[in-house]
Amino acid sequence: MRMFQVCTCGQPLQLNEKPTPEPKGTEVLLKIKAAGVCHSDIHIWDGYYELGGGKRMQLLERGIKLPLTMGHENVGEVVAVGPDAKGVKVGEIRLANPWIGCGECMVCRRGEENLCKTPKNLGVFSDGGYATHLVVPHPRHLFDIGSLTPVQAAPLACSGVTAYSALKKVSENLKDEPVVIMGAGGLGLMAISLHKAMGGKSVIMVDIDPAKREAALKAGAVAAIDGRAPDAAKQIIDATKGGAWSVIDFVGSSDTVKLGVDAITKGGKIIVVGLFGGDITISTPFFPMRAMTIQGSYVGSLPEMKELIELVGRTGVPQVPIRERPLEEVQEALDDLKAGKVIGRVVLTPA
Ligand SMILES: [Zn+2]
Ligand SMILES: [Zn+2]
Repeated sequence: MRMFQVCTCGQPLQLNEKPTPEPKGTEVLLKIKAAGVCHSDIHIWDGYYELGGGKRMQLLERGIKLPLTMGHENVGEVVAVGPDAKGVKVGEIRLANPWIGCGECMVCRRGEENLCKTPKNLGVFSDGGYATHLVVPHPRHLFDIGSLTPVQAAPLACSGVTAYSALKKVSENLKDEPVVIMGAGGLGLMAISLHKAMGGKSVIMVDIDPAKREAALKAGAVAAIDGRAPDAAKQIIDATKGGAWSVIDFVGSSDTVKLGVDAITKGGKIIVVGLFGGDITISTPFFPMRAMTIQGSYVGSLPEMKELIELVGRTGVPQVPIRERPLEEVQEALDDLKAGKVIGRVVLTPA
């Protein structure tokens, strides 16, 4: 098999080869059909997250080992099945849930493998899909994509389930109040589409890039606000008729979280998803006085992945612009994403 690997953080990926693995135990071997390129790959590749105030969290100190094959949005064809892998057959096309825990702790048994303290996430803590082949440790992580094509389905594995899980965290107000979404990248556009599928009222998008605001309006947002405008908070308060009940922040910078705090109404909720990095100071009386919630959301759980696949099966494929590129162009795809040049999602397909 061939795989593009991070061998040194920040350096171009290297094309390496090794014998194609034989699946053992419950493992399933997929031949990759489609692998989405996600913004979090940029952080893994760089090797750190910005913590604000000049501090950084180094990923190599957090259990990520090099060389690593990134790629966590994968759909492939089952080409070999371990002796204990039940319910899966050679020839089936399956999406691989990458958010994999130990499978044994209480958190995993509740289905929240994405919160397991010993994560084995594909493309993050174990090898992912920027490759010809991928080993998935257990068939419970494989999902039938129905009538979707592999390229359409791949982004559901991260951007889809991440947007879905964030939207679920504000579901109490989704049908009656507009939701403010910060960041009109692949995740933001996915959220607009899923929000509609979930019966949401309307989306107000905030982004600093006019091209991305335009893409958001095209995707169905009712308003698109420049997050760098001096009166951005007031514009959000006006557009939500008195302040936002729900803000989903797919950027996660000091500026966006602060803008969210300034723009919510009493009882409002901010869901922080993005890993741009930074820090903020909040006056503690705001929490009780404004009955404010700031909650983090990390990808999605296995049950949420199942719900998402069912939702998309009922309501149709999310309308996110997708650009297909050959696997060999993975480096260019990452460079373009880092430079902010990608609208929607890039999905790689091996030859
Ligand atoms: Zn991702
Ligand atoms: Zn676990």
